[in-house]
Amino acid sequence: MTDLLSDIQCFLTTERELFGETLLSDDRHSAKEAAMPSRQQPAVEQPMLFEPPPAGKVPMTTEPWGDARTVDELNAGICRCQKCPLGATRTNFVFGVGNPHATLMVIGEAPGADEDAQGEPFVGRAGQLLNKILEAINFKREDVYICNILKCRPPENRKPQSEEVGQCIPYLRKQIELVKPRLILCLGLTAAENLLNTTESLGKLRGRVMKYEGIPLMVTYHPAALLRNPNWKRPAWEDVQAARKLHDELV
Ligand code: URA
Repeated sequence: MTDLLSDIQCFLTTERELFGETLLSDDRHSAKEAAMPSRQQPAVEQPMLFEPPPAGKVPMTTEPWGDARTVDELNAGICRCQKCPLGATRTNFVFGVGNPHATLMVIGEAPGADEDAQGEPFVGRAGQLLNKILEAINFKREDVYICNILKCRPPENRKPQSEEVGQCIPYLRKQIELVKPRLILCLGLTAAENLLNTTESLGKLRGRVMKYEGIPLMVTYHPAALLRNPNWKRPAWEDVQAARKLHDELV
């Protein structure tokens, strides 16, 4: 049912973007006429569609989704994105899942085959491990918010390219702005380097508390890396315990 509503919302948003309010109205003629300026009446001054931001604050976009007030609205505004070539090869747009007001936001790299098929982040093998990691620090999957740097699957699960990240990361920035987590946990270097704008290694980044737009951010190994290299499970366990402790101090 939620999926159906989300699809309908997505469809209506796309229609509105392409055709304006006219198609959504029952009385198309009067809507069209209302949009035409009347010769007799003096033109009424239109409110500014886009208010300049306060000095020093640069807007992330002037596109309609930038005004989204909830994550569902944001999803509806961006779910048909075709800004990069991954839009043409995806099965599903993988927006994000979880508590829209979560205090912990977990950010991975990009959807894999299972996520692309199901439209939900971290549902494959790495996702099962993530669920266990979260449970081990007393979080249920549905309590936190889970998403990725990219919303669409790169072919063969290759690393996201900078052009793809450049197009997609404004969506994540907006998602973070809406969820307002107290703590961000980056899974793997791709999430960390793109949110922190750093080229430091994962070894240097983990074990520290950094900030993204004033929000404390910690980094640990990606669950897929832990599946490949179980030696990293011990340090990852230390990282997530530290993250839980910091989280509890922050909320
Ligand atoms: N790996 C990721 O980074 N994200 C997913 O959603 C799944 C696997």
